[in-house]
Amino acid sequence: MTQNPSPNLHPHTYAGSTHDRAAHLRTNPAWLEHALQTSTTRFLPLWQDQHLLTPTEATLLPRTSLPADPATLPHIFLGLRNDTPLFAVDLSSCPESTLPGPFTPIRPVAATLPAPDAALIAQARTLLAWQNANRFCGRCGAPMQPDEGGNRLRCTAHETHVLFPQISPVVIMLVTDGPRLLLARGTRFAQDRRIFSALAGFVEAGESAEEAVAREIREEVGIEIEHIQYHSSQPWPYPANLMLAFTAQARTTTLTLDPTEIAEAHWFTKSEIQSKTQNNFEIPGPAAIAHDMIQNWLDTPLHSAKS
Ligand SMILES: [Zn+2]
Repeated sequence: MTQNPSPNLHPHTYAGSTHDRAAHLRTNPAWLEHALQTSTTRFLPLWQDQHLLTPTEATLLPRTSLPADPATLPHIFLGLRNDTPLFAVDLSSCPESTLPGPFTPIRPVAATLPAPDAALIAQARTLLAWQNANRFCGRCGAPMQPDEGGNRLRCTAHETHVLFPQISPVVIMLVTDGPRLLLARGTRFAQDRRIFSALAGFVEAGESAEEAVAREIREEVGIEIEHIQYHSSQPWPYPANLMLAFTAQARTTTLTLDPTEIAEAHWFTKSEIQSKTQNNFEIPGPAAIAHDMIQNWLDTPLHSAKS
């Protein structure tokens, strides 16, 4: 992928990984087995969808601080950080009283963690959720077994039944009509707060990302768009989405809402968004790619001419 199109954009939350995924080590079972028992190896613990965090970082534990032998728990080889092997380990089966500290949800703090830590957590969450959801082979029903450090699953009955991590692409798009930006409040958003965001939706089978952008906009707000351009992307580990952000220009502006999906949608000027508090609405929090996209639009001078 080429450089981020906007120099104003910091990497999105969950996207700033710095560790070496060391894929070549995944296929070395002897090395993995040894690394699991080595005192310098570090473990990123998860427990029932929660995490062990300090205010400034994700806590990485040595083997001796875990409540059980990591080889007996679901685990994933995440890679190397400064040559230190890193594993995610799922402590969900351990009683709360045995845990090495209080576990908390990631969402409220993700944007304030160091980017490499949030990225490590995203990788761990997505892979452990995928392992948990695929305990049996979808083709023959036999139990699945983690392989390659938990980065793929192999059927215990048939060697050719192999499953790789599955990620669902979601398109999210900022549509402008020149001076104004289209934002919507989804029916599934919190009802006690007026949060306006960019429209988004899953890419369907047999559809390009650009086609999904145009279809979602047509379905949800009934307008036609043009000049669909890729913007940036973000892993979204709830549990396994890849957000693909696009920008587009409106060809028509009269909004016709799909009431099952969209509670409200409006065209906003920059000043209306900048004075959102007075206007009694919010935009998504800083962990969301929509936040970065909206902020980026606010920070970019408007071109007087439509291309
Ligand atoms: Zn099978």
